[in-house]
Amino acid sequence: MNFELTEEQKLVQRTAREAADRVLAPRAAARDVSCEFPAAELAELARLDLLAIAVDAAHGGGGLGAVAYSLAMQELARGDASVAVAVSVTNMVAELIANHGTAAQIERWVPGLASGAHVCGAFVLSEPEAGSDPAALRTSATKTPAGWRLSGTKQWITNGGRAGVLVVWAVTDPSAGNRGITAFLVPGDAKGMSVARLEEKLGLHGSATAQLVLDGVEVGEDAVLGAPGRGFALAMTALDGGRIGIASQAIGIARGALQAAVTYAGERRTFGEPIIKHQAVGAMLADAATWLDAATLMTLRAAHAKEAGQPFSQLAAMAKLFATEHAWKICDIALQVHGGYGYVRDFPVERALRDVRVTRIYEGTSEIQRIVIARNLLRAVS
Ligand SMILES: Cc1cc2nc3c(=O)[nH]c(=O)nc-3n(C[C@H](O)[C@H](O)[C@H](O)COP(=O)(O)OP(=O)(O)OC[C@H]3O[C@@H](n4cnc5c(N)ncnc54)[C@H](O)[C@@H]3O)c2cc1C
Repeated sequence: MNFELTEEQKLVQRTAREAADRVLAPRAAARDVSCEFPAAELAELARLDLLAIAVDAAHGGGGLGAVAYSLAMQELARGDASVAVAVSVTNMVAELIANHGTAAQIERWVPGLASGAHVCGAFVLSEPEAGSDPAALRTSATKTPAGWRLSGTKQWITNGGRAGVLVVWAVTDPSAGNRGITAFLVPGDAKGMSVARLEEKLGLHGSATAQLVLDGVEVGEDAVLGAPGRGFALAMTALDGGRIGIASQAIGIARGALQAAVTYAGERRTFGEPIIKHQAVGAMLADAATWLDAATLMTLRAAHAKEAGQPFSQLAAMAKLFATEHAWKICDIALQVHGGYGYVRDFPVERALRDVRVTRIYEGTSEIQRIVIARNLLRAVS
């Protein structure tokens, strides 16, 4: 077993850390209030090769793997979780197209995602009535002489209205269950696609979360990603990898909150002593640091398995479950350690608690991760 990072992984980590400190963190509090989309920040991160980290360098990507991606996500989320989620979805979309697209699709979309020319990507699966159960989606794709016509409503779409390219899932064969679902590559300016509303959220205020309406959006035959009927399997594969990204995001948010809490606890004095010297406070921080380390190791292990081409679905589900549930607890402890000051906007732990909450929900809720894990446990004994 080797816990050492490679030189390339260290470089990505350092690059993302510096970008988080220089570009993201100084504007994070203001963005939380303004809810401004981080277009300039994404352009800067594209310049630093952080939008398609695990994509082959021949297609404009970083040519690295899931470990480097996780390390970068951890750093960026510490700086600003809103920007990190836009980066995460863009990496996911770039990787999905690079791994499953035709040569023409890859050439059309992947270099532009990596360079920032397409701004960002969007993963358009969820619907108002289909989140945990994506097989229940209703958006339809009907055959036309020139290709396909897409109609339906999509919900909770990160980067919706901003992405240059969207992967949209739709039903092509209603009689075939989840084998009747197909993924399509849709340009961001496609006629008939519009943002019906932008959600006002508890946290991640700088991330655009849109309800998208597709009203007879026409795409060519060459827009099908993979093959007709393969969409559900593609979504599940992408979400396995995406869970490593969300676990990493949760770790980054929690790390920032814990660092702030330790600093504060070393400075704030009550009863004549820094509060970290009171055992009750020190014990909370010790628990938080231990959970954070465990979450980081689990997530990097899942990333390592993915990178090595080993089965990683179970490891990614466990990492996401553990990292997000404990990141939430760590941010709560960080707020508690700040006392009343933790409850106001002057200190970053208030935003961290709001931002981290959604990591237990998106890309599969904690309840869904437990279902995935339990299913795999049963498979292992039968
Ligand atoms: C800010 C934000 C950004 C998002 N970004 C995207 C995106 O970019 N693209 C995208 O496609 N989606 C996105 N999502 C959607 C997200 O993945 C879904 O919200 C999530 O999968 C849950 O689906 P749901 O909201 O429909 O809840 P539901 O599926 O209705 O679940 C409601 C509750 O029931 C529980 N539950 C459901 N089924 C079961 C079961 N079988 N057993 C036990 N408990 C169960 C859930 O865990 C949850 O607690 C985003 C969501 C948010 C909030």
